[in-house]
Amino acid sequence: VKRDGRNGLRFYAPHMQRYSERALALSSALKQAIAGNELSLAFQPQLDLASGRPVGAEALLRWQHPQWGPVSPAEFIPLAEQSGLIVSIGWWVIEQAMAAALRLYRAGLTDMVIAVNVSALQFVQPDFVEELSRRRDRLGLPAGAIEIELTESVALLNPEEVGLKLSALSAAGMRLSIDDFGTGYSSMSYLKRFSVDKLKIDKSFIDELNDNEEDRAIVSAIIQMARSLGMKTIAEGVELAAQAEQLRALGCDEIQGYWYSRPLGQEAFDAFMADATRA
Ligand code: C2E
Ligand code: CA
Ligand code: CA
Ligand code: CA
Repeated sequence: VKRDGRNGLRFYAPHMQRYSERALALSSALKQAIAGNELSLAFQPQLDLASGRPVGAEALLRWQHPQWGPVSPAEFIPLAEQSGLIVSIGWWVIEQAMAAALRLYRAGLTDMVIAVNVSALQFVQPDFVEELSRRRDRLGLPAGAIEIELTESVALLNPEEVGLKLSALSAAGMRLSIDDFGTGYSSMSYLKRFSVDKLKIDKSFIDELNDNEEDRAIVSAIIQMARSLGMKTIAEGVELAAQAEQLRALGCDEIQGYWYSRPLGQEAFDAFMADATRA
């Protein structure tokens, strides 16, 4: 490849190779991450705008590698999806999320919901919904204590299969929210056919909510549509009081973001929830 010039190949090739070497190393190291106790969950509290009280939290996966330090889920989740490891990691996440929900329940916070990100690949596993209900019932958790977050990418899977799964999910009393709403392959038809409880309005529409008329129009339209279809809305990535105010004015139900709280480790989260729900 040419030494000089602005040839993209010369510039990008070494970088891509470094990337794939890292990807390969991460992918291989990830196999030991559960057994090595390198994974943990962070919990990001979600605020109900009308009551000013928390309604629960989203569980977010964290990986602390002994040599490389923290690795972002944005980097390792796609690798785990490629290798199929996401299925066992996903069950680990669900187990930990259920344990957190149980702690809240036992502390007397009986109507809190823990939202869990479920990759499409895990969702289509044959016994996913049955296994999920089985684990929940074994712990004695109320039906609605766990919420499943799916991205719009499930709309790309076999619609019949997805339809059956979503029906089973709602028959089992499990809540469903559509993550990153508005960024993906929005298929309005699944909102009509399946019982979606909540739309998570993507952060990209929130960032400039206060200065950008288009973003405000989109967010407002999502909220109105959700309302008419009997769904709730939650905005993610809310960093500023002004954004929270605007969202309240637009009729958004809930918010999540650094303004209310950063994702917290288990102990900090339990303390936050005890404090925020104190009468
Ligand atoms: P996501 O589901 O859209 O999660 C929200 C991301 O935004 C999280 O990043 C969260 O820490 C971050 N965030 C929350 N509030 C704010 C804010 O106010 N400002 C900014 N700048 N960021 C905020 P995180 O934890 O790095 O996760 C990245 C993505 O990785 C998630 O995006 C999700 O797609 C995926 N992920 C995380 N945990 C899991 C998991 O257990 N399973 C699966 N399948 N995917 C996961
Ligand atoms: Ca999510
Ligand atoms: Ca999201
Ligand atoms: Ca997002």
